Amino acid sequence: MPTKMSMMAAACFAALLAGLAPAAAQTRTTLDIYVVDVEGGNATLFVSPSGQSVLIDTGNVAPEAAIRDAERIAAAAKDARLTQIDHLITTHWHGDHFGGMTEVAKRVPIRDYIDHGPNIQPVAAFDEFFAKAYPALYGAAKHTVAKPGDTVAVAGLDWRIVSAAGAVQKTPLAGGGSANASCAAFKPQDPDPTENAQSVGSIVTFGKFRVAHLGDLTWNNRKGAVPESMKTLFSSPGIEDVWQIHFSQLSGQEYTVPGMFIANGIDAPLSEMPVQPIAAPPPGPNTPPPPAHNGPAYWIKVSAQQDGTFTVTNARNGFAKTYGMNGRGTN
Ligand SMILES: [Zn+2]
Repeated sequence: MPTKMSMMAAACFAALLAGLAPAAAQTRTTLDIYVVDVEGGNATLFVSPSGQSVLIDTGNVAPEAAIRDAERIAAAAKDARLTQIDHLITTHWHGDHFGGMTEVAKRVPIRDYIDHGPNIQPVAAFDEFFAKAYPALYGAAKHTVAKPGDTVAVAGLDWRIVSAAGAVQKTPLAGGGSANASCAAFKPQDPDPTENAQSVGSIVTFGKFRVAHLGDLTWNNRKGAVPESMKTLFSSPGIEDVWQIHFSQLSGQEYTVPGMFIANGIDAPLSEMPVQPIAAPPPGPNTPPPPAHNGPAYWIKVSAQQDGTFTVTNARNGFAKTYGMNGRGTN
């Protein structure tokens, strides 16, 4: 006859099995967004509760960086239990945004290639990619040239294209269109002649949760590691926390965040973190490369609920924080 203790143990085991069942059925309820570390540029993976997925950009150019970044993207896809990427949006034709595409496609099948159209900033090194490699990739799948106002079909999400090839959405989105006081003092900058201004921009809605991804569409001070940008971020109203893929090398300790919000170090960490902002190196051919980080890389993951609340998790240390429970962020 079982003792009371062992019956309790058996009951706990049964409860554990019951708890495992939904996981085995792979039920999803959240929109999961993996911000993958590709050492600058971009690779962001969206996974709908339906299991359909959109990857925005594929990291850096061949050979070594493309393989490194494709491996990191494939690891995120594996974590999300994906067997394919339903749509790849390449925001623009800069090497740190499309460079890993061929390598990603070798690891995870891509079903639809979305871009803004031809490259307006030709670089000889990329000619062969546009002439041969890219047509071969999308020729075996689907190719879509995006325009503002288009939607991308992702079951469970409302995915709208709001910018592409230098054009932007002309009509307000639902709930938008009124004057924004924060933009009252805005003065247009000189036109950006580069591929950045061609970026495919998306607004994604999941219930009450909305997120914008605009590629490199913004113009002045857009690079995150510039001290001025960090000052602006830290003094902006309504921003609760800033999560960083890396310590901001050019900004120093003064404009960076507590370590639990930072996903990655570098391969050879500094013996001590700088306290003062560090002067940015002069641009040009003699600019030293950024500190190397080719080793293990962690993502920052956002899991959003229909009610607009969302949890951000640092994959390096498991530190997570949920936003929007007390009103802020849910409006
Ligand atoms: Zn760019």
